[in-house]
This record gives sequence, C-alpha cells and structure tokens, in this order.
Amino acid sequence: MILLDGAATAKSIKLEIASEVEALKKSGQKVPHLAAVLVGDDGASMTYVGSKVKSCEEVGFVSTLITRPSNTTEEELLQIVDQLNRDPEIDGYIIQLPLPKHINEHKILLAIDPEKDVDGFHPVNVGKMMLNLPCFLPATPAGIIELLRRYQVPTEGKHAVVIGRSHIVGLPVSVLLQRNAYPGNCTVTIAHSRTSDLKSLCKSADIVIAALGKPEFVTGEMIKEGAVVVDVGITRVVDASKKSGFRIAGDVNFAEVAEKCSFITPVPGGVGPMTIVSLLMNTLSAVKNHR
Ligand code: NAP
Repeated sequence: MILLDGAATAKSIKLEIASEVEALKKSGQKVPHLAAVLVGDDGASMTYVGSKVKSCEEVGFVSTLITRPSNTTEEELLQIVDQLNRDPEIDGYIIQLPLPKHINEHKILLAIDPEKDVDGFHPVNVGKMMLNLPCFLPATPAGIIELLRRYQVPTEGKHAVVIGRSHIVGLPVSVLLQRNAYPGNCTVTIAHSRTSDLKSLCKSADIVIAALGKPEFVTGEMIKEGAVVVDVGITRVVDASKKSGFRIAGDVNFAEVAEKCSFITPVPGGVGPMTIVSLLMNTLSAVKNHR
C-alpha cells in the first residue's frame, strides 16, 4: 500500500510556487494577492480561512482577510464583492462557504468576476470545466487530480466510483476523472444518498472517491483488493481525549481499508492540504491570465 501523502506533496508544490513568486519579484512584477471573505464565526470556516491565509504567507503571496459579523446583509456582502471585482490589486478572492442562511449563496457566487473566481464556483468556470476549456478548477477536485498525477496512479480505463454529488467535490471530481486526459479516462459512477446497493458498487470499483461527510462510512468489506481510495471527508467528531474536544475523521475506515488498497489518502494530511495548494495555484494562474 502506498500512502498518497497530501501534506508532503502540498509542501513541495508550495516550494515550486514560492520560487515562481520569487522570480516575479526579481523581475519587478507584482506578487499575487489573494483575498478571503469570512462572514460569521463558524469555527471550522475560521480554521479553513486561517490556513489559507497562512499558506499565502508561506509562498510569498499578499493576502487580505475580510471578516464580517453573521448579521451582515446580502446587500453589504454584494458591495464587498463589487469592490473586490473592481480592485486592481486583488488577483483572486474567495467567499468562504457556507454563508449565513439569510444570504443567497447563488446570488453572491454569480456576482463574483469569473476571472477572479479562484475557487472555481462561478457558472462560467463550471461551464468551461465541462467543456474542457482553460478555467479555474474547484480546489478540492483539482487537488485530488494533482495528487493522483504526482503519484502516477494509473487511471485510464479504470472504474471510478465517486460517493457524493455536491457541486464543490463529488460532481466536479467525476467530470475531471472522465476527461480524455491523465489523470482521467476513467469510467465514472456517481453515487449519492439514493443509490441502491452502494456496497456492491464500491466493491466493483478500481478507484473510490469518498466525499459524503459520514465518518468511517467506507469499510474494508466495501473495497476490492488493490483499489485506490481517496478520502475527502472532514468531520469533527467529539473526542474527550483531545485538548480541542474533537478529532478530525475521514469518510473511510482507514485501518480496515488500507490493508486492501494499492493507494490511499490519510485524514488528516491527504486531500485537505492539496485543496489549499490548488487555491494558491489558481491565484498564481489568475496573475498570469491578467497579464
Ligand atoms: P455535501 O454537500 O453534504 O454532499 C454530500 C454528498 O454525499 C451528497 O451528494 C449526498 O447525497 C451524499 N451522501 C450522503 N450520505 C450518503 C450515503 N449514506 N450514501 C451515499 N451518498 C451519501 O458535502 P460536500 O461539501 O461534498 O463534502 C463532503 C465531505 O468532504 C465533508 O466531510 C466535507 O467536510 C469534506 N470536504 C473536504 C474538503 C477537503 O479539502 N478535504 C473540501 C470540501 C469538503 P444527496 O445528494 O443525495 O444528498
């Protein structure tokens, strides 16, 4: 079994990005500037945004964190989006999801300039992804694909089962896995909460992408010998033995599944760090595109 070490891979990609930033600086060009908008005080969102800002600093980007209270109105957030769209100093930005319930997420995402949409959630970028045109790919699916590429995981002709059909993970990773490219050329099945006999379906898969948000849902008996397993899940599970009072659990029962697979991602240290570097890579591309 080979561990798909997202933490180590992300570290080496960050070094590559940092050297590109250094080259930009040396040639007198502006360094990439990523902004992040956080509305409210959701603990997990604050942690994610904090890691994104820290990663920007590590690679030499400029970062701006805009925080607003949870009672911010939709109109106020649209004004922030408009300012970020028009600010020539900002190369790309993200609106951390989920937003408070009184704000229409679609309305906000539609207002983002697709050329600054480094999360790749705007319909223009989603449409371009479907047509295999250059675009910002959503960070988590792009991170998964990059991890498979870096470990030279065979994908052509393989049957991939993606568990989850969300717009930010399951659906886009399914699209990327079926593309005529490497990694890609898989025959993809998308599973969701209404899928019948998921166990047999998974058992027939050469590649399983677990993105459903149910801790340790994928067990050893669901996986065939030699399969590749990518665990996207991040769930906080109460754990009194931890100082924080919780631990992070993936969607895969690692101990059972690792024994059977050819490649597997750990949680933490698998897909999570790759998601952040994808965002950095998108921001670097935004700078190049703007020039
Ligand atoms: P989501 O929007 O809640 O979508 C979950 C998907 O899983 C849905 O399509 C749902 O089906 C499906 N599902 C739920 N229960 C199922 C079951 N018993 N059997 C089969 N399918 C089932 O979640 P998400 O945003 O895609 O995130 C999924 C997980 O990945 C979460 O743990 C999240 O925290 C994590 N995540 C991690 C990263 C990272 O960087 N590592 C990034 C994003 C998300 P229906 O459509 O039928 O409801």
